[in-house]
Amino acid sequence: MSKLQPIRGTHDLLPDAMRQHRHVVETARATAGRYGYQEAATPIFEATEVFARTLGDTSDIVTKEMYTFETKGGDRITLRPENTAGVARAFISNGLQQNLPLKYFYAGPMFRHERPQKGRQRQFHQIGIELLGVAEPLGDIEVIAAGAAILDALGIRHLTKLELNTLGDTESRDGYRAVLVDYFTQHLDKLSEDSCERLDRNPLRILDSKNPGDREVVAGAPLFSDHLTDAARDYFAEVCAGLSAIGVDYDLNPRLVRGLDYYCHTAFEFTTEALGAQGAVIAGGRYDGLIAQMGGPPTPGIGWAGGIERLTMLSNPHAPAPRPVAIVPIGEAAQARALMLAEDLRRAGYTVELGYSGNLKKRMRRADQQNARAALLIGEDELAAGKATLRDFDSGEQSDLDLDTLVDALAAYR
Ligand code: ATP
Ligand code: MG
Repeated sequence: MSKLQPIRGTHDLLPDAMRQHRHVVETARATAGRYGYQEAATPIFEATEVFARTLGDTSDIVTKEMYTFETKGGDRITLRPENTAGVARAFISNGLQQNLPLKYFYAGPMFRHERPQKGRQRQFHQIGIELLGVAEPLGDIEVIAAGAAILDALGIRHLTKLELNTLGDTESRDGYRAVLVDYFTQHLDKLSEDSCERLDRNPLRILDSKNPGDREVVAGAPLFSDHLTDAARDYFAEVCAGLSAIGVDYDLNPRLVRGLDYYCHTAFEFTTEALGAQGAVIAGGRYDGLIAQMGGPPTPGIGWAGGIERLTMLSNPHAPAPRPVAIVPIGEAAQARALMLAEDLRRAGYTVELGYSGNLKKRMRRADQQNARAALLIGEDELAAGKATLRDFDSGEQSDLDLDTLVDALAAYR
């Protein structure tokens, strides 16, 4: 029989990896909390139309990357490729328009059928925040600042740079769109098939193409910044000024576009050069049209998502495994007492390993493998005297303790 393998592009999070993963989530949750973002979770699968309608039917995600299934009842469902559409759906389904602004933090798995490589998986995990109901630049500033603060709290802000651009308002977009179509039409022969298809429906998307031929054409394309309305330009200037005022450094990148249809105004990415081709660790932007497009009450929104795998790759290993106290009974009577002692100590907050079987030597070896801080040896004679021997593995020292007052005597090992 061949060995069972995980599905391509998926990974097990064994305890060492899981701790790094959780460190990112907990740091992000705590930091986002200080900005007023509360954790929420939406289902891992949704009706396919939740994504198909919102992400736009020309996006890579919808055309190539979604895991879509038909259920036994004949419904089409999709494993969420991202969480903004789910949050917007939840906002509409729960009728939350009276509760604005809403500030959500989330963390969880996302699924995209793309070519697995370093920093790119088919099941990956994101943290993210969404701010609904704020149309002012202060919203953009806060959301971006929270992202920077999380990178800072993870100790990796210096490995990233914040790239910033504006996609303008509807009027700017319409004007720019016409100019772009003109330009790309002159270079049709050099564009990929995908991009030629997008030319009609969503020329802006071509700017986001990763195809090398497309990239060459894109390099000479007219800039959005030259086609902004005054209102859109002022809006962006306020966002930039606010970020500068609070010391969040950024680089303007007029070529930065977001891959999804619903973005407008501010678009941003925290990128790094430390991860090769997969340079974006956090990406987001403003999506004022999204909720109305889904059939909800027109509601502005802005948010970002960050890839947890990429964030853990940048962070130094954190949060070492807890070091237990190992209880090592010698003999049957001691074993029975050890079971109770272990339970008492755990209830008092200690991390305790109680070997299941084996002689002294074997149990001590296991305690070593578990990186125990100390072993509590309980032999027959000691048990009769109401004592135990504590061996500290770091100092090598040994001491006698009273079994009755053990919980307090071990305080240094909690
Ligand atoms: P990329 O350009 O790398 O494909 P994207 O524009 O598709 O990224 P978003 O949809 O904005 O990414 O997702 C936000 C973040 O989620 C990314 O910046 C990245 O850190 C992470 N991410 C996206 N797709 C994957 C993936 N397949 N595997 C691991 N992380 C991912
Ligand atoms: Mg992608």
